[in-house]
Amino acid sequence: MALTEPLLIGPDRHGRRVAVIDGMIAASPPEGARILSCGDGEIAASAVCAHTHLYSGLACYGMPQASPPPETFVQILERVWWRLDRALDAETLRLSAMDYVARALLAGTTALIDHHESPHLIEGSLAILTEVCEQLGMRALLCYGATERNFGREEAVRGLAECRRVPASPLIRGIVGLHASFTVSDDTVREAGAIARELATIVHVHIAEDLADVDDARSRGYNGPLERLSALGALVPGSILAHGVHLSRAQVELADALSCWLVQNPRSNEGNRVGYAENLRYSDRVALGADGWNGDMAEEEAALFRLAKVHDDDRAAHRLATGHALIAERFAAVPQPLTPGALGDLVVRENGRVRHVVVGGRIVVENGRLAGGDMDAISVGAQKLAVRLWDRMAAM
Ligand SMILES: [Zn+2]
Repeated sequence: MALTEPLLIGPDRHGRRVAVIDGMIAASPPEGARILSCGDGEIAASAVCAHTHLYSGLACYGMPQASPPPETFVQILERVWWRLDRALDAETLRLSAMDYVARALLAGTTALIDHHESPHLIEGSLAILTEVCEQLGMRALLCYGATERNFGREEAVRGLAECRRVPASPLIRGIVGLHASFTVSDDTVREAGAIARELATIVHVHIAEDLADVDDARSRGYNGPLERLSALGALVPGSILAHGVHLSRAQVELADALSCWLVQNPRSNEGNRVGYAENLRYSDRVALGADGWNGDMAEEEAALFRLAKVHDDDRAAHRLATGHALIAERFAAVPQPLTPGALGDLVVRENGRVRHVVVGGRIVVENGRLAGGDMDAISVGAQKLAVRLWDRMAAM
């Protein structure tokens, strides 16, 4: 089935043309293709956000400060994000995802890897995220981050079951999520690995974001969360480990040897004061994520470069590009963007601004305007629902 009609982008200001057939970059221009003219713009690779949370998309609309102010990482989770995720219903989740995805596309991000949790709306939550991504034209890997922190083991079983319900499409792949080693039992970790193998997919999990995760794994008799997840069979090759702030050099090398991807989230790590992920420099498989901050990856990369300089990390340059290899692996595509066999995802920039965005050969942003929705209307709706969400959080 063709994802879209053939599309020919260009020529751009350098005379470059790029063809997309059946959602993939093609070597030669197709007959009778639709033409997307670039004006004085330049065709370029788009961006991949390798770890984020669409459920936090309303946070930019004046989320009240937690009180009393959190001092530790676990308090930040307890007083802010674990309260927000419990307050989500279908409507707030939908608008949260719409707002986040729309802004990410307008910024030239064409794929994101989401990690979702909404404990009072587990069943059907990933269908909402799927619909939003399909409507607006975002490529995505989706999972529910199974956890036992609210309702115990049954909660995790339901979370893992939700991961099975994502139907693959030209834009979407379901993967298997675990919240983090420190909020799940051995049974849940084992089950996540088993489901990932059964579905020929991977596991997406937070790892060593804070020392609390490391201390928990040690109290259970492991060297750290990486060793625990690996020993219990959850680290299927290709799995995605978000953060790794407190992994040692040897652990980063072990993740690499297990063919796992690591994802650095510099704005989030700085904001949560968990530290700089020093040892990620010892793997070539490190992508860049926003971890719930906006999906403008140029902003994320600027933060990365600023922090990398402070920490003498000379390996930061390729992290944004590594996201392409991660996404290509899940869609069985060539990893180098804009080459034949790669995903048909790209941007056209003009005067430093994003003019067009193409995902799988579909024009999702044209002349700076979203094709699948109205950004102003989404923003107004999101603002309205955000107030409702803050009220619900305050009542918890
Ligand atoms: Zn995260």
